[in-house]
Amino acid sequence: MVANLGRSRLLGGQSRLKAGCGQNCPPHRPYHKRIMLKSSGVRRAAVLAILCAAQMWAAPPKLVVAIVVDQFRYDYLTRFRASYHAGFERLLTKGAVFTNARYEQYPTVTAVGHSTFMSGATPSMSGIIGNEWYDRETGKTVTSVSDDSVKLLGAAGDGASPKRMLVSTIGDELKIARAGSKVIGISLKDRSAILPAGHMADGAYWFDPRAGSFVSSAFYFAELPAWVAAYNAARPADGFRGAHWLDHVLPSDAAVYAALEGSPYGNDLVESFVERAVQAEKLGQRDATDLLAVSFSANDYVGHAAGPDSPEVKEVSIQTDKVFGKLFNFLDKAVGMANVLVILTADHGVAPVPEVNAARKMPGGRMPAGVVRKAVETALIDKYGAGQWILSPSDVAFYFNRELIRQKKLDAAEVERTAADAARAVAHVFRVYTREMLMHGAVDPEVGSQVMNGFYAPRSPDVYVLLEPYWLYGSKGTTHSTTFSYDAHVPVIFMGPGIKPGRFNRQISVNDVAPTLATYLDIETPSGSVGRCLAEILF
Ligand SMILES: [Zn+2]
Repeated sequence: MVANLGRSRLLGGQSRLKAGCGQNCPPHRPYHKRIMLKSSGVRRAAVLAILCAAQMWAAPPKLVVAIVVDQFRYDYLTRFRASYHAGFERLLTKGAVFTNARYEQYPTVTAVGHSTFMSGATPSMSGIIGNEWYDRETGKTVTSVSDDSVKLLGAAGDGASPKRMLVSTIGDELKIARAGSKVIGISLKDRSAILPAGHMADGAYWFDPRAGSFVSSAFYFAELPAWVAAYNAARPADGFRGAHWLDHVLPSDAAVYAALEGSPYGNDLVESFVERAVQAEKLGQRDATDLLAVSFSANDYVGHAAGPDSPEVKEVSIQTDKVFGKLFNFLDKAVGMANVLVILTADHGVAPVPEVNAARKMPGGRMPAGVVRKAVETALIDKYGAGQWILSPSDVAFYFNRELIRQKKLDAAEVERTAADAARAVAHVFRVYTREMLMHGAVDPEVGSQVMNGFYAPRSPDVYVLLEPYWLYGSKGTTHSTTFSYDAHVPVIFMGPGIKPGRFNRQISVNDVAPTLATYLDIETPSGSVGRCLAEILF
């Protein structure tokens, strides 16, 4: 009891109360009703003090800021630690830091990481199986958020929406539980703004490099809010024309918009838009708990081009630390950090550049484009005759021509097995999974279980081909998508009122974030969540 009171005082009386008032009280529940008032005066005084603290805490935080850094491996926190003096420094010293958080699905890509973050759902539950996939119904590739039934606002083109996401997010559950709450998503990328915010969001905004301004979709409203139009009218992205970083110089013409996404300045631009959103929408400054989901994408563009061992990735990480320092200082003034819960993660990591690995005697290499596909096509034609057997354009995920399989009166599972055997015979192919294997759960627990977590039958391919560790497609730069640690191990940090600071070393899943947040906010757990509450960090 005394220790708990001490901690409450330490955190300004805002902390959640720990267990100790009876076995029936879960340790993380914010509202305690089972305290027994049957003891001595001293004990009664202590109990009253606790009740008082509990009442103070009964007001939930005014603002939840859910941050994703796109392509930010866990080891970027440790390798560059000495260079962090602002935002990451604050998170690492004041937050609850999980050192072993992983994704538990294949593939580890942007749309999947962002949909997991605020839903707790794997793709097998959410339906968000990748950044894009072959849509059997239309015969076209669709993205995780493409939606031609709504208009883009602020530039020409089709809009976007969360309609392909089958489950709820924290923002949805928050709005269902608390009518006054606002939910807003912001990023450079459409999917990274839309998916963490959810279906009921008040708005999602992303950057259009053709227009050089922030856009949204008619899914949310008929036209851009006046504050967004005013922000765009000032042309803030133009301020980065000719800007330098390391030995890179941004273009002085309209090409600056695309280029700034691949420089640390992309994160500065997003941060400035976030400040405007907080001011204009009065986020955290009303009688409600608001949710702001922000994703910083510049790290991903820089990382793909330069790789995790490059000076560029170190530099963009250091600049991200500064951007977060600026953001937290702004939030402290606008809302008060004592009223703000911050959660930080990444949507995925990244593989080392194969040439860098080779130079340090590590395994890996580059798989030439089309090799696996050719092997599969040849095997199918040899065995079943000529025809367009593969409908999807991808090298790693094959959707077969079901009409052709029907015409030739073949068994689809047998066609899959033929293709899988051919793919397995290609050098540096690590695992191959067929639809039949995944539907029956006939897979290995190390990798196959994660492919199952990423498999949603109506949208997923018939055969997945995974390469050996450190092997990747593409002739330059690097990428991500695998279940190996370099792609799957990411930061998870909670910081704010009611959170126990410290280092937490047990293995957790990023899917645990959403149910933890639901418990913290006392709202319903998002519908597709497969995670578990991280009760040890909640007072
Ligand atoms: Zn990426």
